[in-house]
Amino acid sequence: MGKNILVVADVRHQNVRQVTNEMIGAANELAQGGSVHVAVLGHEVNIPDLGAKGADDVWVVNDESLKNYTPSAYRKAVLEIYRQVNPQVILFAHSAVGKDLAPVVAMRLGLGQISDVTALDVSGDKPLFTRPIYAGKAFTKVTPKAEPYAVTIRPNNLQPYSGSAKTAQTHEVTVSFETPDLATVVREVVQKATGGVDLTEAKIIISGGRGVKSADGFAPLKELADVLGAAVGASRGACDAGYCDYALQIGQTGKVVTPDLYIACGISGAIQHLAGMSSSKVIVAINKDPEAPIFQVADYGIVGDLFEVVPLLTEEFKKV
Ligand code: FAD
Repeated sequence: MGKNILVVADVRHQNVRQVTNEMIGAANELAQGGSVHVAVLGHEVNIPDLGAKGADDVWVVNDESLKNYTPSAYRKAVLEIYRQVNPQVILFAHSAVGKDLAPVVAMRLGLGQISDVTALDVSGDKPLFTRPIYAGKAFTKVTPKAEPYAVTIRPNNLQPYSGSAKTAQTHEVTVSFETPDLATVVREVVQKATGGVDLTEAKIIISGGRGVKSADGFAPLKELADVLGAAVGASRGACDAGYCDYALQIGQTGKVVTPDLYIACGISGAIQHLAGMSSSKVIVAINKDPEAPIFQVADYGIVGDLFEVVPLLTEEFKKV
């Protein structure tokens, strides 16, 4: 029998992020002919045609209290939609918001949770979710013990829905957000002006390590990134050395990324760095030490000085 699956859309700056389409793809597989419901929480969010993306029902909570993420307001909105949909599975993005919200909701409902899912197999009796363990050194397959349960999905790993477009029914949901219910009220969010491409959604990332040697050493990486429409990332080594902002840090204690192409420049390949990027589809490493561990995970390795190799790549890509 078909299942009811609830996807909590990942919204940033009033836009629905790509990982939502990937969650809807997974939800259609899990639903097995049942219904895919998408919850869109926020304030004046630009909602695309989610029926075309595979949603059967779209549940919208549009309220100023949801303009900025707070666990108490978002939990309240999710619980209200959950009560109406009564799903067997609830999916969140493994993003900054999803990682915080999923356990808050799961705890309140007493659900089990499977986190940071990178693959899904629905061919057996029960779904099998693949997720990293030991800081990404290995992957394990887990199956839920009981329904309902919560799942967080790592961006850029699962396939969006590819079936024919559906006509989604939209439901406006009113939730009253009283100040006493809300443990936190965000008055203002001051954005850091990073510009450029969002790291966690980037298809190409050019990443710099301690080998760039200074803040100015990132300049050739930024040039290559501009030519390729890529985002710039960094190792913690580079961040700790003050060469760049911690917002760029990739790894166990930084961002987890899965781009189509990851170019590591002057990064040794410590396990904590690999935890954040080893599931990238193609990895290119540029390092002057042929013994650097990064070459063990790289699909293509260039042994050389990044200050020579990176400008050469930029020149060649400019010709394409
Ligand atoms: P290094 O290890 O110093 O490597 C620099 C590399 O640059 C070397 O391989 C060198 O051969 C090469 N190089 C130098 N000059 C050039 C040149 N001109 N051209 C080409 N190559 C050159 N690290 C992370 O990245 N992310 C994390 O999230 C993270 N979390 C951590 C959490 C914990 C609890 C701990 C203990 C550590 C964590 N680390 C993390 C740190 C991690 O262990 C490493 O110290 C760090 O990744 C090293 O950064 P690096 O590769 O840039 O520097």
